Amino acid sequence: VKIGIDAGGTLIKIAYIEDEKVNYQTFNSRETDEASKWIKEKFNNPSICITGGRSEQLAGLLDAQPQTVVEFDATASGIKYLAEKQGYQLGQNYLFVNVGTGTSIHSVKESQQERVGGSGIGGGTLLGLAYLLTGKLDYEEIIRSASEGDRGNVDLKVKDIFEGSLPPISGDLTASNFGKKNAMASKAPSDADKVAAVVGLIGEVIVTISTQMAFINDTSSIVYVGSSFRSNPLLKEIIKEYTKMVGKEPVFLKNGEFSGAVGALLTL
Ligand code: ATP
Ligand code: MG
Repeated sequence: VKIGIDAGGTLIKIAYIEDEKVNYQTFNSRETDEASKWIKEKFNNPSICITGGRSEQLAGLLDAQPQTVVEFDATASGIKYLAEKQGYQLGQNYLFVNVGTGTSIHSVKESQQERVGGSGIGGGTLLGLAYLLTGKLDYEEIIRSASEGDRGNVDLKVKDIFEGSLPPISGDLTASNFGKKNAMASKAPSDADKVAAVVGLIGEVIVTISTQMAFINDTSSIVYVGSSFRSNPLLKEIIKEYTKMVGKEPVFLKNGEFSGAVGALLTL
């Protein structure tokens, strides 16, 4: 059996071939013991390739020394594989954006990836700010709450500034994330409103940087991957709409969060 592992800062992603198809499994990165135990119990003498910042830590717990691969290359080849399987025509040149704990942006030219930028604003920011603002720690609870919130009680839109007169850009654009200070002071936003605004902040920062990188690198498609999109349609929607608005093509791959693990699997 072949197993590809991407041990990231937050989550361990595993892709393996069983019954001639790729299967997926996830563990929390703090649970390396559990992950290694699962692998040892489920597979007999597997070949393993591992990538990601926590590779060494997890590799040390496995029976045999696994192969390793550079994370960015693994992610690039996993994206290429998943995109082809899912019928996307990405062409030779495109951008991919991995929104993990942090965010990493890569340009692909003739199948070679190059890291062209990044941001500390990522999935970890969502968890950290949500905790500071609401005391919530559970990911699923946070994003469920975000989907019920109203950013309009926290974020200042262009039309809030122009109040009735005609603005030079769309009034629905965010003028200032978290900028509705006076309204918040007279009526406190709910926890749901706060986390919805956090998702908005993260999505808008990432999509702004990513689309500018797409213009600089002259690519038309932007592939967004990473576990930060898991069960998070709000984040997807913000990024999708803004990417389309500036004339670029957003692509969200099914199982895109497993790109690194799939890429590691493909090297075996
Ligand atoms: P990095 O690549 O930056 O080292 P990573 O590979 O661990 O980190 P991902 O797994 O791609 O990062 O994404 C982690 C993010 O996904 C979290 O910060 C969180 O926003 C989100 N997430 C999705 N599901 C979960 C979960 N079950 N538990 C915690 N975070 C989750
Ligand atoms: Mg990662």
